[in-house]
This record gives sequence, structure tokens and C-alpha cells, in this order.
Amino acid sequence: MTLLSVTDLTKEYQSKKAVKAISFSFEENRCIALLGPNGAGKTTVLRTLAGLLKPTSGTISFKGYKPNEDIRSLIGYLPQYPVFHDWMTGLEFLIYSGQLANMTKHEAYERADELLERVGIADAKKLNIGKYSGGMKQRLGIAQAIIHRPKLLMLDEPVSSLDPIGRREVLTLMEELKKEMTILFSTHILGDAEEVSDELLLLRNGEIIESGRMADLREKYQTAGITLTFH
Ligand code: ATP
Repeated sequence: MTLLSVTDLTKEYQSKKAVKAISFSFEENRCIALLGPNGAGKTTVLRTLAGLLKPTSGTISFKGYKPNEDIRSLIGYLPQYPVFHDWMTGLEFLIYSGQLANMTKHEAYERADELLERVGIADAKKLNIGKYSGGMKQRLGIAQAIIHRPKLLMLDEPVSSLDPIGRREVLTLMEELKKEMTILFSTHILGDAEEVSDELLLLRNGEIIESGRMADLREKYQTAGITLTFH
């Protein structure tokens, strides 16, 4: 069942065309990597899908989205540079986030507790976020992004700034979460895409230059004698 379809999506900033009439769609419960070098337009695509930027033209259609419904209820979004309240504990931060998502304090507490377990930082729930490692912060950010049980989780460069241990922890968490929801994440590293994604959208200069199932693309390039690398 198609979860999202995008047709001729274009986004211009003043005179700069960052995204040029791209079209793609994906099914539910997939993990899709949006791969491309710096400036390819990955953040612009994710922010537009998240409803944070208005498209210049084109259509975005979500399964289950009703007019007048806030699209953010269907989507969880973790930006590339999330802002945390370092003086709060992880638990306080998630309770606060749950309340911002219209939960009662009790509901937010229960959901926060469950998510801290889910993302593997329950041991540190009473520690100030300022003391968290980069990987722990990223996992807290993912917990915050899914606090309202979205259908689509979008992560902007979730592992780019992490050391190898943090990267592994976050990729493992994404492997787990993709059983329950669709994940669209951006990266500029092919290895990240290969490790967790089922599908690939390769973006360059605001255009999709390749797309498809990871396994099919690998075979296509192998058959052609090309090693798929990306810098
Ligand atoms: P990065 O990995 O560096 O974040 P990206 O693939 O996410 O890159 P975008 O941030 O979407 O790419 O940027 C796409 C293009 O749009 C770039 O040329 C960028 O300079 C430009 N751009 C992004 N935001 C703005 C803005 N607010 N105003 C003008 N141009 C912008």
C-alpha cells in the first residue's frame, strides 16, 4: 500500500532551484535512503515533506491524510541539528515533548518511559541531556520524533556526526523501528544506505538521478561491472 507519493515537487529559494520537479512514491513499512552529496537538496525535500517549507509547485499525497488534519500528526521529523534542552533529564524532555503533542502528563510519562526503553537509554533517563553522548542524544531525538506514533519517520543525516559506536547504535535502532513504521532518512554515505535501507533515492543537484530497491540497484551495477560508490 502506497504511503506517500510525490509528483513534480519543486522548491525554489529566491532564485535558487533546490529541488527540481522530482517524483517518487513509497510503500508502508519500508526504509528509504535519500542519498546525495552536500547541497543536493536532501534537507529541502525532508523539510518540505514535513510541512516546514511550502513547495513552490507539485503535489505531496499521504495515505490517510485528511484535509484540515495537521500533517505533522502523521510524520515524525528529526532535523540534522536538533536542539535539546541540555539542563533537562532525558525523561523530563520526553514528558515535555509528549505534552507538546497534546498528551496528558500521565500519558506523556508512560510514553516517555516506554520510549526510553525502546531506544536503549532507560539507564540514563535521570541524567541531564548535557551529559549524553552524541549517539544517546540522537536516540533521544528519535524517541521525541516518534512520541506521537507517526506513520512516517524522517531523519536528516541521523548518523553523519556520530562516532562509529554511536553510528552503530543508531543504525541498529533504525533496523528495529523499520518493522513498525516507514523511515525516510538522508545521508551522504552509501554505506549507511546499504546497511539499513530497502530502497534508495539518489539525489544530485535537486534531481533524482537513480531510484529503486537497494538489491536491484546493486545487481544492476554489478552486472554492468560498476562498483557503486558515492562520495
Ligand atoms: P547538506 O548535506 O549540505 O545539508 P542537502 O542535500 O541537505 O545538503 P539542502 O540543504 O537542501 O541540501 O540545500 C540544497 C540547495 O539549496 C543548496 O544549494 C543550498 O545552498 C540551497 N539552500 C538551502 N537552504 C536555502 C535557503 N534558506 N536560502 C537559499 N538557498 C538555500
